[in-house]
Amino acid sequence: MLASSLKIRVVLLIIGLVLIAQTAVFALMSVQQAQTVEIDARAVLGTAERLVATRIAQMRDNGWLATVQALRDPVFGRLDITSAQPPVIGALNAHLKRAKASRLLVVDAASEVAHDFSQDSRPKSKALPAFRSNMILGRSSGFSIEGDALSLWVASTIGAEGSAAVLLFFPINESLSSDLSGISNLQIQSGVSSRIKSIEVPAGHRSLSRRIFLSDASASALAVDLSLPVPNAWFVFTQGFGLPLFLVFLVAAVLSSVVGYLNMKLWLRPLNQLQSSVKSLLAGDFKPMPISRRKDEMSLLTQTFNLLVEGVQQRERKILDTAYRDTLTSLPNRTLYQDRLTEALQNAKQTNRPLTMLLVDLDQFKTVNETLGHSAGDAYLKEIADRIKGVLRGADSLLRVQGGRSNAPTPTIARLGGDDFAVLLPGCDLEQGARVSARIGDVIKQPFTHQGQSIALASTIGMASFPEHAQDAASLIRAVDIAMYVAKSGQLNSLTFDPRHESEREQYLALQIELRRALEKNELRLVFQPKVSLHGEHRLMVEALLRWDHPERGPQNPATFIPFAEKTGYITTITRWVLDNAMRQASIWKQRGLDVQVAVNVSPRDVSGDALPTYVISRMRHYNLPADQLTIEIAESAIVGEPEATRECLTILDRFGVRLAVDDFGTGFSSLSYLRELPVDGLKLDREFVQAVNKDNCSRVIVKSTVDLAHSLNVTITAEGVEDAETMVTLRELGCDYAQGYYFGKPLSADEYVDWVQHQLRRFAAAPGARPAAARAPQPASAM
Ligand code: C2E
Ligand code: MG
Ligand code: MG
Repeated sequence: MLASSLKIRVVLLIIGLVLIAQTAVFALMSVQQAQTVEIDARAVLGTAERLVATRIAQMRDNGWLATVQALRDPVFGRLDITSAQPPVIGALNAHLKRAKASRLLVVDAASEVAHDFSQDSRPKSKALPAFRSNMILGRSSGFSIEGDALSLWVASTIGAEGSAAVLLFFPINESLSSDLSGISNLQIQSGVSSRIKSIEVPAGHRSLSRRIFLSDASASALAVDLSLPVPNAWFVFTQGFGLPLFLVFLVAAVLSSVVGYLNMKLWLRPLNQLQSSVKSLLAGDFKPMPISRRKDEMSLLTQTFNLLVEGVQQRERKILDTAYRDTLTSLPNRTLYQDRLTEALQNAKQTNRPLTMLLVDLDQFKTVNETLGHSAGDAYLKEIADRIKGVLRGADSLLRVQGGRSNAPTPTIARLGGDDFAVLLPGCDLEQGARVSARIGDVIKQPFTHQGQSIALASTIGMASFPEHAQDAASLIRAVDIAMYVAKSGQLNSLTFDPRHESEREQYLALQIELRRALEKNELRLVFQPKVSLHGEHRLMVEALLRWDHPERGPQNPATFIPFAEKTGYITTITRWVLDNAMRQASIWKQRGLDVQVAVNVSPRDVSGDALPTYVISRMRHYNLPADQLTIEIAESAIVGEPEATRECLTILDRFGVRLAVDDFGTGFSSLSYLRELPVDGLKLDREFVQAVNKDNCSRVIVKSTVDLAHSLNVTITAEGVEDAETMVTLRELGCDYAQGYYFGKPLSADEYVDWVQHQLRRFAAAPGARPAAARAPQPASAM
C-alpha cells in the first residue's frame, strides 16, 4: 500500500519534471524562433525597400523614355499635339498602350488639359500635378493619387518654349506587387501616409512594417508601406510546437514513467522485503533480511533492521526463559513442565506407552536456609538439580526395558518452586519409575559441602503413573502431590500413589487449618516425660511434650503437625504457648514442693535473634522461677553452621542461666567440634543409637566415643528412648549421665507425674539414704 503510493508519487513527480523541462525548452525555442522570424522579416523588408526604390526609379526612367518616344512621333511634327485631329488622337492612344501607362494627359501652354486618355475605368484625379514647378531639362516626375491608387507620373514638354506637355501615369501598387510577389506575405500599401491603415494580421501575429516616403515625411506626404506579419513567441509555441511538444512529452512521459516505475520497483524491493519481514517478525518469525551487495542506504537499512530483529529475538528469548525457566537452576519451571506433561501424555496415549511422574521434596530444606544462609540454600538447590540430571543422564541402565528406550521422549526435570522438583519419565512404567526414584533418593542423601560445612538432607518422593493413576495432566499432578504429602506425613522416603491416599491427604490438609484453631479451643496440652540420672543424682527432671486432642481424630502425634506448623510459621505461637504452660506447671509443682527441672523443645525457626530469650526471661520472672529450672532443647539441625542469629539467641539464654541441650544428637550433620563454640550444656543421644547399643557394636562405639568427647567438652549426655533395664545398664557403663524412656516413664500428665514422683519416693524410701535431693513431700496434686 505504502510502496504503491510511493511508486505513484514518484511516477507523477517524473511526469511533472518532464513536463516542466520540456515546456521550458520549447518556450525558449519558441522565443528564439520568433526572434529569428523577426530578424528574417526585417531583412526581407530591407530588401523589399531597396527593390521598391529601384523599381520606382526604373518606372520613372521608362516613363520618360515613353514620353520622349511619344513626342518624337512624326505626327506631332505635323500636327498640333493639343488638337483633336484623329491622327493625333490615334498616335496618343497608341503611345498610351505602348508605354503601358494607365493615363495619358496632354496639357497646353495655358495648363489646360487637351487630351486625357485612360486604359482603365478607375477614377482619375481631377487635380493636375504641378509638373512645371521642378522641371529639369523639360522633364519632371512625381506621384499622385489616382482614385485610391498611388501613381507615378512623368511629364515631358514639347515645343520650343515647352508650351505643351505630355504626362504619363503609372500605377505603382500593381507594378510593385507583381515585382515583390516573390516575397510571401509581404503586403504593400500606398497613399497619403496619414491614411494608410495598418494591415490586418492573423491571430498570434503582429505586423512588422517599413514606410517609404515618396515626398517629404509629413502627414500629407505620399508613402508606400511594406508590411510583413510575424508570429509572436506564444503563437510559435502553441501552433508551431504544440503537437510535437505534446507528442514528445507523451513519449518522454511514458518512457520516463516506465523507467521510473521499474527503478522504483527495484529500489522499493528492499522496502517491500522490509515490510514482509516486519509482518513475519510480528508473527514471531525472526528471519533476517538478505543483505544486498550494494553499499547503499537500503543495505544500511537492512543491516539496521537485522540488528533490530536480533535484539528483539534475544529479548524474547530472555522473556521466554524467565517465563518458562527457573532462574536459579535453569530447569523448566512449573508452566513449561505442565506443557511438557500435556504433550507427553498425548504422546503416551497415541503410542500406548506408560508415563511416570515423580515429585521430589527435600526434607527440612528450610533448615539449610535458616542455618547456613540463603546463598548456601541456593547452592544446595543447584547441586540437587545437577544430581537429579546426573541420575537421568545415566537412566538407560536403570530403565532397562524390552526394546530399550532409544526412541522414547526425553525425560524432563523441573523445579516447581522452593524445594520441590518434578521428574517426568515418558515411556516408563511404575517399576522403572521406582528405580529412578530410589536412585534420586540415594544421590540426594549424599553430603553437600559448602564453605567447609557439610550437610546431608533426605528427601520424600511421590510417584504416580499413566495409565494406572490418571488420564490427564491435572489428575496426574494431583495424584503425585497426594502421594508425596502422604509419604511426608508418614515419614516415608517415597510412596506410589494409591486412591486411598486421597482421604488421608484431605485429613492432613484439614489438620493444618484446624491447628490454628486448636489453641483457641484449648485442644493442646502438655505431657511430661521423666528424665533420670544414671549416677545417683536425685534431681527431678522432665521433658514437656506437646499433645493435641483433636475432637474427631483423637490425640495427634507432634511429629504429624509440628513440621507443618514449622512450615507455616505458626510454630512461634505454639512454642510460646508450650513455654508458658511448661513454666506455669513448674511453678505449680514448686508451690507443691516439687522442684522440677523442665525441658522444652523449640524449633530451629524459634532460635534466632533475641525474641525467644526476651519471652523466656519475661515468663520466668513472671512465674518467679530460677533460670536453671528451664532447659531448652534444640534440634541438632538448628545449630549447624552457627548462623549469627542462632548464636546470639543461645548466648543470651546462656547468660541468663537457662540450660541448653542439643536434641536427637546423631541424626543430623553436626559434629562435636561445632558444640565447642556454642554455650551447650547437654546432648540428647538419639534413640536410634540408644536402642541399638546392645545389638550393634557400631552403635555402642558411637555412643561411647560421643560420651567421652562430650565429657571432655564438659557437656552432659542424656540417652533417649531407653526401653529396658539392659540398655540402661549398658548406658550407665558407657558413662551416660541421664536417661529417658518408657523404661522409666512414659509421657505423663502433670498429675500423673506427681503420682510417678511419689511412687519413686516410695521406692527410694524402701532403700534408706537414697532420697531425691530436690523432692520434698508433695502437696496434693493440682490439675494443670
Ligand atoms: P523428642 O524431643 O526427641 O521427644 C522424644 C520423643 O520420643 C517423644 O515423642 C517421646 O514420646 C518419645 N519417646 C520417649 N521415650 C521413648 C521410648 O522409650 N521409646 C520410644 N519409641 N519413644 C519414646 P513425641 O512426644 O511424639 O514427640 C516427638 C517429637 O516431637 C519430639 O521429639 C520433639 O522433637 C517434637 N515435639 C514434641 N513436643 C514438642 C513441642 O512442644 N515443641 C516442639 N517444637 N517440638 C515438640
Ligand atoms: Mg526433645
Ligand atoms: Mg529427641
